Amino acid sequence: MDYDIIIIGSGSAASKVAHNTASAGWDVAIVDSQRIGGTCALRGCMPKKVFTGAAETLDWSQRLTDHGITADVDIDWQDVQSFKQSFTDSFNNGIRQGFEEAGVDILEGRASFEDEHTVTVKNTSHTADNFLIATGAKPRPLTFTGQDHLITSNEFLELEAIPGDIVFVGGGYISFEFAHVAARTGADVTILQRNDRPLAMFEESIVDELLDASEDVGINVHLNTPAGEVEQHGDHYHVYNKEGETVSKTDLVVHGAGRVPQIDDLNLDKAGVDTERGGVTVNDELQTTQSHVYAAGDCAASPGYPLTPIATIEGQTVTHNLLHDDKTKPDYTGTATTLFSIPPVASVGMQESQVEEKGYEYSVNEGDSGSWFSSQRIGVDHGRYKIMIDDATDEILGAHLIGHHAEEVINIFAAAIKHNITASELKSTPWSYPTSIADTDYML
Ligand code: FAD
Repeated sequence: MDYDIIIIGSGSAASKVAHNTASAGWDVAIVDSQRIGGTCALRGCMPKKVFTGAAETLDWSQRLTDHGITADVDIDWQDVQSFKQSFTDSFNNGIRQGFEEAGVDILEGRASFEDEHTVTVKNTSHTADNFLIATGAKPRPLTFTGQDHLITSNEFLELEAIPGDIVFVGGGYISFEFAHVAARTGADVTILQRNDRPLAMFEESIVDELLDASEDVGINVHLNTPAGEVEQHGDHYHVYNKEGETVSKTDLVVHGAGRVPQIDDLNLDKAGVDTERGGVTVNDELQTTQSHVYAAGDCAASPGYPLTPIATIEGQTVTHNLLHDDKTKPDYTGTATTLFSIPPVASVGMQESQVEEKGYEYSVNEGDSGSWFSSQRIGVDHGRYKIMIDDATDEILGAHLIGHHAEEVINIFAAAIKHNITASELKSTPWSYPTSIADTDYML
């Protein structure tokens, strides 16, 4: 065999496995068809947060103009782009260099299986005893006429300028996050959501507050409006609903209709690796239907959400199982997730419907936090929380927030859920004051 392990993909799920198996003395190769480093570092979380940071700065100044701030804050998108690029270039270089220094061979190109122990990359066959499939996700294929006019999040992150009018097809994470950035730059923004419930992974009352916050900054969210067709007219686009009515004439149409596992061209059948709706079929230890082939991260049909920390945890599990010939399972308890709108939405644990389904006796603490001093002193009007607490054990079952610093405050609840800290124990903590985390006192 050429290698002890070949890892397909170089993102968050792949990274730990490559480094740890190489430092254990294994011969390791990593394959990627794009720049080394994966989605989060180069085309996802990290570049997106640079955009969010710029938009938040505009938002701060816009919010506080009636409260003593007089500077007319403006944005130079090309400079924001260069700033973002400085990070992604350095991540790409650093991650590549890290692999090289660890003695990992980098194979550039698209991998597909030839048989159970062989992959082809650019017409060359490479064999290995073990494999990790960590190929991530891609935008969900769309079927309406003119869907090829849509750009994806990859292209949105490379825009040289934010156009004056943008339509997002689909009301998922990507649409709301980018819509909030674009709206702060002055763009007219529309989101088309096929049913009446965008962001179903978040608690309904919190999403309703986000819809109000979105409306306040001029984002038009059309519910029950699936896109029917997109037509190009010169450098503009006409977007129609299913009934053929014009929904918008716009400068740019962006795919925000979700992502699916990126596994189609891997020839997994030739390796005897099964797939299902959620991706590559895996057991609790992340082994596929071939015991020497593992899958982790966004491409795996595991119970973990398609998020960077989950890809990392799954990679750590695979590393452990490979190096110790063990059967450990990833622990997803207390996975927090944030939608980086302005203000952000954040969540951990169960929604109320899930708590009910599981038959808990529980209490709900719910309310408006936008009226609290911590929000009002910075001109933020939108804030809401919903916390479910187990009556029998006093443990937090779910915490759902929208508001300033929600993305940080949620981590306190995540730690509580992960480490069985009760609601009373959290409440009795003498947090630094006045801070957003100290506000958890009013939520518990
Ligand atoms: P990836 O990092 O996607 O890596 C897979 C790699 O495999 C890619 O580089 C790809 O080129 C390569 N590949 C695929 N097929 C092949 C093949 N056949 N041959 C060779 N190479 C192949 N998560 C968060 O937790 N927080 C966030 O704020 C957040 N924001 C996001 C914003 C955006 C715009 C996007 C798109 C995603 C975001 N995510 C976020 C999700 C997060 O990026 C993913 O969950 C994470 O990157 C998954 O890691 P992975 O290792 O499974 O796959």
